[in-house]
Amino acid sequence: MKGLKQIIVFFYVFIITLSLAACTARIPEKEPSNPEQSRPAPVEPEKGQENEAPVQDGNKDKTGEVDLKEIKANENGQIMILMYHSIGDKEEEWVRTADNFRKDLNVLYEKGYRLISLKDYIENNIKVEAGYTPFVLTFDDGAKNHFNILEENGEKKIDPDCAVGIIEEFKKEHPDSGSGGTFFIYYPIPFRQKELIREKYEFLIQNGYDIGNHAYTHENLGKLSIPDVQKALAKNVMSTQEYLPGYDMYALALPFGSGPRGDNYKYAVQGEYEGVKYNHRAVLKVGSNPAPSPANVKFDSARLPRVRASEMKTAGVGIYDWLQYFEKNPGKRYISDGNPDTVAIPESEAENVDMSRLDGKELVIYK
Ligand SMILES: [Zn+2]
Repeated sequence: MKGLKQIIVFFYVFIITLSLAACTARIPEKEPSNPEQSRPAPVEPEKGQENEAPVQDGNKDKTGEVDLKEIKANENGQIMILMYHSIGDKEEEWVRTADNFRKDLNVLYEKGYRLISLKDYIENNIKVEAGYTPFVLTFDDGAKNHFNILEENGEKKIDPDCAVGIIEEFKKEHPDSGSGGTFFIYYPIPFRQKELIREKYEFLIQNGYDIGNHAYTHENLGKLSIPDVQKALAKNVMSTQEYLPGYDMYALALPFGSGPRGDNYKYAVQGEYEGVKYNHRAVLKVGSNPAPSPANVKFDSARLPRVRASEMKTAGVGIYDWLQYFEKNPGKRYISDGNPDTVAIPESEAENVDMSRLDGKELVIYK
């Protein structure tokens, strides 16, 4: 009898192990070899804690106007944070041509993607229309071709082939395309036109863009002492606030994708130098895969992955690889229910929602 009991217990443990393995199965992370990215998997929530919302009988949303099943609403799906570097004349691994950037915006728009800010993503304040998918734009290094101002006949105008010029033109042509975009800059001369730094910063924040930290002079944070990490990050904040007093630099993109090692990683998130504090509620890595929904149990604002906005040498981690992936796997894609006060998900996603991140929003589960 005792032997039989042991066999039964063993069998149950085996089944539970198998189902846990199935829960955690997800798309392979095709990350480049980078010590920063070899971290332990996020902790799964304890079973039974996460799903307290009743499953709806019908498929309608709270207003009764949106058929959640028909639009395949999934606000626990993945979101692409696109990573651009230069916008230039010749396509290279870290350079996108102006025309290819225009193409990216067009393709995303046609496929139902709408631009949101990085802040709205991390704060789960996503306001795209029902049936659409949010995405985030990021630009590293504060290149001149990100934001270039030309002077013609004594008048200043935004270079139509720089990133800001292209986005502004696109928004004019497509008023429902959304807005946002974070420029991760370093010093001494972000965007490389010294006398125009303030003017550019003011334009950016007035038009829905953000300025992000990329260390003071693009230091490799993985190679610095902890005091020097804090100095490199706080000095960027100090310099930015000289132009924009009190500006909240809530985001950091790790230069070279490299952060302080081990427990010291926390200094990428928070720290202080000469009385200036920084508090990065978003820390972005170098690309390779889409990011989880801000409501997902795998969401980690200190380690956000990005997708490379490139078609060269992407080895399956570029923007078009992931667009194709979402076409083949529509269930993995974040699809909005159109209501920022609810998080609508199919029943199959219920165990992957982090209830602590709903922040007053109502979880709506449909069959
Ligand atoms: Zn960089």
